[in-house]
Formats: sequence, structure tokens, C-alpha cells
Amino acid sequence: MDYQADVLVAGGGSSGVAAAIASARQGAKTILIEKNGYLGGTATASLVTPMMPNQSKGENLVAGIYQEVLEGLAKRYAGSERFSDNNPGWVNPELLKAYLDEICRENNVQVFFNLDLIDAHVGSNRIQDVTCFFNGEKPVFKADMFIDASGNADLSHLAGVPMLSDPGRQAMTLRFLMAGVDMPKLAEWIQSVDPQMKNSAVYHHPNGHWMLSTAHTLDGPGWVLRPYFEEGIQEGLIETAEAAYFQIFSVPGMPGTISFNCPRIKTDQPLDPLNPTDIEYAYRMGRQQVIRTANFCKAKIPGFETSYLSQIAPQLGIRESRRIQGKYVITDEDILACRKFPGEAVAKSSYPIDIHQASPNADKGGLQKLKDGDYYEIPLQALEPVNRDNLLVVGRCISASFVAQSSLRIQAVCWNMGESAGAIAAKRSQQNRISI
Ligand SMILES: Cc1cc2nc3c(=O)[nH]c(=O)nc-3n(C[C@H](O)[C@H](O)[C@H](O)COP(=O)(O)OP(=O)(O)OC[C@H]3O[C@@H](n4cnc5c(N)ncnc54)[C@H](O)[C@@H]3O)c2cc1C
Repeated sequence: MDYQADVLVAGGGSSGVAAAIASARQGAKTILIEKNGYLGGTATASLVTPMMPNQSKGENLVAGIYQEVLEGLAKRYAGSERFSDNNPGWVNPELLKAYLDEICRENNVQVFFNLDLIDAHVGSNRIQDVTCFFNGEKPVFKADMFIDASGNADLSHLAGVPMLSDPGRQAMTLRFLMAGVDMPKLAEWIQSVDPQMKNSAVYHHPNGHWMLSTAHTLDGPGWVLRPYFEEGIQEGLIETAEAAYFQIFSVPGMPGTISFNCPRIKTDQPLDPLNPTDIEYAYRMGRQQVIRTANFCKAKIPGFETSYLSQIAPQLGIRESRRIQGKYVITDEDILACRKFPGEAVAKSSYPIDIHQASPNADKGGLQKLKDGDYYEIPLQALEPVNRDNLLVVGRCISASFVAQSSLRIQAVCWNMGESAGAIAAKRSQQNRISI
């Protein structure tokens, strides 16, 4: 089985879907290959339900396909909602899967599911074709231009692109959902323990849904939920690892469901997302921690009394692994100085540096905000590998320092760079054909 495209996109997460749609809209025959049986990547498989805000002076920095998807999702399925801070990005992961199928089909993207990319054939600094694994078969895909949107930079790695990575510096997280939560009771409790909304947000949407969020960490003072977590530890319901980081969000279109951005996987040593033994440990430990956290919530947090664990993410949440060596490497300073790249920018971001401490001895975690109201830009050269002429890389694996990646990895930014790269790849493929 051989297939041919103008542009082939490997990986159907935020950046890959955006790239494929943008490429197809330029008239390029576009194939999107995805190893899961659905699109969305980390947003759907790892249940990362809130797309973090990416704003400057109250305005969203990303429009285009990202905005279209969120609006289309809200309109057709009531799946996405605008929070009180104007962030449009809280999504329902199940409805997102269905909507991404629809929008890819409408835009003539040819999607292949359950294909695992396993090889890349390179000649004269160009990828000639890639091989996938599908039910014991090895279909081959040829294309003029390739886009690596695999998160772990699988395609770039297979094509011999050098990497900058030092994996294991960000914590991994196994996210989960609890259903049957009494939302008005939970909202009332959050408002009573955190009346200043220091670590929380509560919003009663005009459609009657409660949109809320709260968080706790063991870092520093001022975390209003601390007494509850200390009690949980004393009573043996949770361990310090579960108390170290806790964050919850309501989910649009799922009344009574709470999405957890925790637990961080408990470990004394950095865990390498590219090491299969570490991955087995992370899933096993993560599921134990999920159950402890769920039991703690039922026992200690008003509103959770009759709730139940409804889903553990099928895919471990990996914040960073491989990052490619590109023609430009985005630095920590570029982020903190809000550097712009006139004429070269493919995405904008105002999101802070955001490191989740991986283990007690690892890099100190925390948020480091940018200058108020300002943002930085991502240049095209950070998407271009040093040694492959017909490959662009998008999403969390672009060419950046570890610290810079911790900021640019959020979904809105992945959509933004994916859209730019898809359009550029389509144009380059057309130019290649004209010059042949
Ligand atoms: C625990 C956690 C919490 C987070 N919280 C937030 C948050 O609150 N808000 C926010 O905006 N961002 C958050 N992020 C970051 C954000 O979700 C990710 O960085 C972003 O979704 C990555 O998008 P991507 O397109 O680069 O990759 P992904 O979404 O990971 O997509 C990669 C796709 O490629 C596919 N793939 C991989 N390898 C292959 C292969 N060999 N063959 C075929 N297909 C392949 C995968 O199945 C997947 O669908 C969080 C991340 C994690 C892990």
C-alpha cells in the first residue's frame, strides 16, 4: 500500500490538525496520520481540557483556525465556553474528537487513524517517504513536504535530525475526570475558603453551567487549601506527592464533571518519557495516585461526597521530551524579553514560563510571568531543522531551550504555529512542483 501527498502531517494533536487544515486550504493534497483512533493529541488522549489563555491587554493573541475550532465546537455541540476572563479555551474532550473529525473532512484533509510512524527514508537532505505500522502492514507515504507534529519529534528523530533534549526535567502527569460532583456545593465551598479568589475562579455562566477552578501546591505560602491537604496527609488519605500539586477545572458540556490536572507522577529520580521502563512505572504509579486523590476529594472536599472516578486518561501527559535542533533555538532570554521577529514570526505567546518540578532534586518549578501586556514571537527558523530541507516541526518539540519550551508548549500556541507551518508547507510543495 503506497500513498502520495503534497504535504504529510505526522501527528493529529493541536499543532498537527491546524497544520493539516491550513495546508489543505492552500489547495495542497494533505494527509494526516495519527496513531490513536481520534484527533486532539494531548488535549483528548491526556484529557488536557483547558487551553490556557494566550492574551495581551485582554485580547486573545491567537485567532485563525484555533478560534474557528472553539467557536464551531461551541456552536454545534455546546462543547466550548468562554470563561469570565475572555479565555475561549475550555473544551469537552469527547466532543472535541468528533468536531476535529468533522472540520478535517470539511477541509479535505485525508486522515488515517491507528497508524504508527516507524521509519523515514532520507536522501539528499530530504525526506523521501515515511513508513507506518498498521495491523501488521507497513504502508508507505510519499510527499513533497513533511510536518512533524508528533509531540515527541518521532518523525524528526527517525529522519536523523539532531536533538537538544534533556528529557525528564518536567513532571509527567496522569490526568483524570470525576463525575457526579455537586457543582453548586463545590462552587459555594470554593467561594467560602478562597473569598479573594487568590488561587481559584468561580463563574456561573449565563447558560446555567458552573465554570470553576481551584489549585494548591506545597510551594510557598498563601495556598488557601493547605489545611485540607495537611489533614489528608495526616489521615493517610494522600501522600506528599499528591499534595505537592493539585488543580481542578469544570468541563463544558459535562455538568457535574471535574477534570484534574494532577497528580504529578511521584518519583525520586527524573523519569524519561522516552524510556519504556519509566513509562510503565509512570502509568502504574499514576493510577495509584489518581485513586488516592479521588478518595481524598470524596472524603474532604464538599461537593465530591457522591462523586466517582469516571475516566483516567488513556495517555500519560508528557510535557516535554525531544526538542529538535533548528536553524534558530529560542532562548530563555527571548521569552523573558518578549522578543519579536519581524517578518519571520509564525506564532505569538504571552504565556509564562511554567515548569512542573519533576522530582525533589529536579529543577525548581513554578510560574515566571512575562512583562504585563507584552508577548514574544516564535520565528519560522525554530520550526526548520538544521539538516532536512522538506521538513517543518510544530508543537511542543520545536527548537527551543528547556525553559523556553515550558512556555511555548501551550495549546493555543501549538495551534498558531501549526496553522502557519501548514500554509508555508503547502506553498513550498507547490513551488517544488513548479521547479521540477
Ligand atoms: C499534564 C499536562 C497538562 C497541561 N496543561 C495544559 C493546559 O492547561 N493548557 C494548555 O494550553 N496546555 C497544557 N499543556 C500543554 C499542551 O497540552 C501540549 O503541550 C500540547 O497539547 C502539545 O500539542 P502538540 O500538537 O505539540 O502535541 P500532541 O497534542 O501531543 O499531539 C501529538 C500527536 O501525535 C501523535 N503521534 C505521536 N507519535 C506518533 C507516531 N509515531 N505516529 C503517529 N502519530 C503519532 C499522538 O498520538 C498525538 O495525537 C499540558 C500538558 C500536559 C502534559
